[in-house]
Amino acid sequence: MNWLTNFVRPKLRALVTRKETPENLWLKCPKCEQMLFVRDWEANQEVCNHCGHHMRIRPLKRLPFLFDDGKYELHALPKVALDPLKFRDTERYDARLKKAQAKAEPGTTDALVVASGLMGNRTTVVAALDFGFMGGSMGTAVGEGLVMAAELAVARKAPLIVFSASGGARMQEGILSLMQLTRTTIAVRMVKEAGLPYIVVLTDPTTGGVSASFAMLGDIHIAEPDAIIGFAGPRVIQDTIRQELPAGFQRSEYLLEHGMVDAVVPRHKLRETLIRMVTLLMDPLIVDNRSLAPAGE
Ligand SMILES: [Zn+2]
Repeated sequence: MNWLTNFVRPKLRALVTRKETPENLWLKCPKCEQMLFVRDWEANQEVCNHCGHHMRIRPLKRLPFLFDDGKYELHALPKVALDPLKFRDTERYDARLKKAQAKAEPGTTDALVVASGLMGNRTTVVAALDFGFMGGSMGTAVGEGLVMAAELAVARKAPLIVFSASGGARMQEGILSLMQLTRTTIAVRMVKEAGLPYIVVLTDPTTGGVSASFAMLGDIHIAEPDAIIGFAGPRVIQDTIRQELPAGFQRSEYLLEHGMVDAVVPRHKLRETLIRMVTLLMDPLIVDNRSLAPAGE
């Protein structure tokens, strides 16, 4: 018996495990359930090669596809007080934050990434929320980061493009988190007062406090296909109004039909669309003799 359990069984198990495919080579599309080869899927900007489902992409994966030659500069977020309320739920907030930072993409410290570089030969500032970092929740760091991005855009006479992806305010920062609604609104105002374009790309999901502030204040709103965009979730609304909600409620295409967004643009068309829109909104002559006709694709 011992020989069977101690020798034969582990050998058999080893044989079976060895044959398994390494997990990081393939993944399954959550929508059509087809298998995707990770390298193809990454080259396709994390959009399903079979059904076109747009998965949630993290900022550092997205940015190279936006800027000219994939080159950009990352800007560190301003330092803010960590855990000012000494908040504790099932875990202390400072511990939770440190854990999230340890898992964050290299060079990023909170749910916002600010980058600048040339897009269609024109200096552009991009701020992208990271849903992978505590659900893209907006606390002081995100608010300060957005103010910094706006100041950067004004200083460089550059358009500001924001990619939103958020579950809302960061609960652990309480009222300080809510204050970012006004802070970010003022930041957007600065860009507009300087006469510079402010464009928002709404990605899945854009909800809560972010959709109640800077994400809905763009000169132009673009949405990625089939993204959830709204303030409160559909279940909450359904329970409140006690009515069945229409199909596709709070999805990009529904919002386009009802005038809340200006265009639904697939991810691989975003770069050229953004360049075209910025060119339409900005006087091409103010760009230091460089881009009378920005390079298209
Ligand atoms: Zn699919």
